[in-house]
Amino acid sequence: MERDLNTPDQLKMLEDNIGRIKKKLIVLSGKGGVGKSTVAVNMAYGFAISGYKVGILDVDLHGPSIVKMLGIEGIGIGNNEGEMPTPVKVHDNLHALSIASLLPGPDEPVIWRGPAKMGVIKQFMQEIEWPELDLLVIDCPPGTGDEPLSAVQILKKIDGAVIVSTPQDVAFLDARKTISFSQKLNIPILGIIENMSYLTCPHCNKKVDVFKGSGAEKAAKDFDLDVIAKIPLDTNIMETGDAGRPYIYDYSKKDGAKEFQKAIEAVAEKLDIHK
Ligand code: ADP
Repeated sequence: MERDLNTPDQLKMLEDNIGRIKKKLIVLSGKGGVGKSTVAVNMAYGFAISGYKVGILDVDLHGPSIVKMLGIEGIGIGNNEGEMPTPVKVHDNLHALSIASLLPGPDEPVIWRGPAKMGVIKQFMQEIEWPELDLLVIDCPPGTGDEPLSAVQILKKIDGAVIVSTPQDVAFLDARKTISFSQKLNIPILGIIENMSYLTCPHCNKKVDVFKGSGAEKAAKDFDLDVIAKIPLDTNIMETGDAGRPYIYDYSKKDGAKEFQKAIEAVAEKLDIHK
């Protein structure tokens, strides 16, 4: 028999959880591998380090990577006897929840269809007690499928979206669909983040456009949006991601970290977030 996900207790928990979250930010991309989770994690960390209370919710059910990037692989959700389970505490101000924290091992695949995915995302908000948060960052799988749609339906109101893409025109063909998706769902688009924008040559310090293209500028112009950050290709971004460390903190003086900071400031201003 299917589990009832709409008991009065569950619906009350959903209302209570939503009531404790001041602002909700969704991170979208058209394609996989463009750095969407990297952006979600660094933005969440950046806000948390600045003193905001932040949650990060990974609804990328088929490729959950935030637990690795946050260094919480293998750590289960908080589960004190007699209390509701809670998200994993990554830092005093940062709480994370991912399907990966609920699966028996990192190699377990998730084989579900749409309605089951919706059920899991519901459980994330109905059976887990979230703390008071200034901001919840929602990391979605690439594209405009079941997960972002379910997250939007369950969380009711999403305050803003950031769209992540690499510079190539072909990458932006898909990113443009996420822009239309956000517009159809009445989610204000706070800006575009162009990732892997360029590479600074370690020998001559010249900037190299590895992925040539002006997709971000063109999409920004066509949809009247801002490009809020241009993050370079940087091996330290990849290394810190693999090591579960926050690049924005460990390499705060580097251009990439400064760009993440710029994106954070733009989002804080557009969402009017206060500590
Ligand atoms: P997505 O969420 O879009 O699938 P990820 O954030 O998982 O993408 O990033 C894919 C890979 O690229 C990861 O190994 C990540 O560390 C790396 N990466 C992302 N952005 C950069 C960057 N600017 N420079 C170097 N490596 C990056």
